[in-house]
Amino acid sequence: MAAAEILEVRPGLYLGGVAASERCRLREAGITAVLTVDTEELSGDTEGLQTLFISARDEPETDLLSQLDKCSNFISRARADGAAVLVHCHAGISRSVAVVTAYIMKTEKLAFEDAYANLQTIRPEAKMNEGFEWQLKLYQAMGCEVDTSSAIYKHYRLQKVTEKYPELRNLPQEVFAVDPTLISQELKNEILYKCRKCRRSLFRSSSILDHSEGSGPAAFAHKKMAPLIMNTGDETKCTSYFIEPVQWMESALLGVMDGQLLCPKCSAKLGSFNWYGEQCSCGRWMTPAFQIHKNRVDEMKMLPLLGSQTRKT
Ligand SMILES: [Zn+2]
Ligand SMILES: [Zn+2]
Repeated sequence: MAAAEILEVRPGLYLGGVAASERCRLREAGITAVLTVDTEELSGDTEGLQTLFISARDEPETDLLSQLDKCSNFISRARADGAAVLVHCHAGISRSVAVVTAYIMKTEKLAFEDAYANLQTIRPEAKMNEGFEWQLKLYQAMGCEVDTSSAIYKHYRLQKVTEKYPELRNLPQEVFAVDPTLISQELKNEILYKCRKCRRSLFRSSSILDHSEGSGPAAFAHKKMAPLIMNTGDETKCTSYFIEPVQWMESALLGVMDGQLLCPKCSAKLGSFNWYGEQCSCGRWMTPAFQIHKNRVDEMKMLPLLGSQTRKT
């Protein structure tokens, strides 16, 4: 099809390039809602149109994942209101295709490969970049809902940080988990990890990035919708915890590619970090890696009723 065409991929859901967003074409097709996934906003008169603009380049590094729920909600709401919706980017090949594929995955409960293949039968030119493919697989692994507290999303966000801040300076604060010594109430039902030598609280179980799931494209099985828990190996082989960075690490991490992680209280060696990644003893690579040796920390289980700590046996 020519880029100017507007292609109906589902009743009331259209896909196209920038030319498809011209006002006369929208009128012809009866489109009243436009989702623009491009570097430039919809130009011209937008009166009477529902619009959503997602600023995105067609590059594998672009973070589309964080916007997918917002996009799907916009499309769903517009269609529920009886509006016809156009999702467009510049060429109608990569960005808009990725957003519509995510929408189909979520609303029709299809696996990534099936949703994408279905769209390609309607629009053979559809070809999203490999970064978007990977992001849609992560979206699938999260149950087609961006869960910012999940290990999958935390790990994804960390990988984006190294792309966005190659100098590793002025990192956004949300990259770092809150220092557990600063929290008391929210620790219920979580395990707290303390320095074996001085008992200083170091991190919570919610900070552990389990590398048996969602670590990269290779970790995904085909055609499964449920969050994937893949036991790639014997967990006892892992001698380290890979965690998200915690506030007390900040001074050691900034502007430095790799180094040791020391206890902030007693300076005992706890492990190491490397923004380019490190290999676990089980053989899996984690990128970036913040690893704490299991034998340098003690697990403390928080008892919800007593609010006290006991050593986990
Ligand atoms: Zn210590
Ligand atoms: Zn491992």
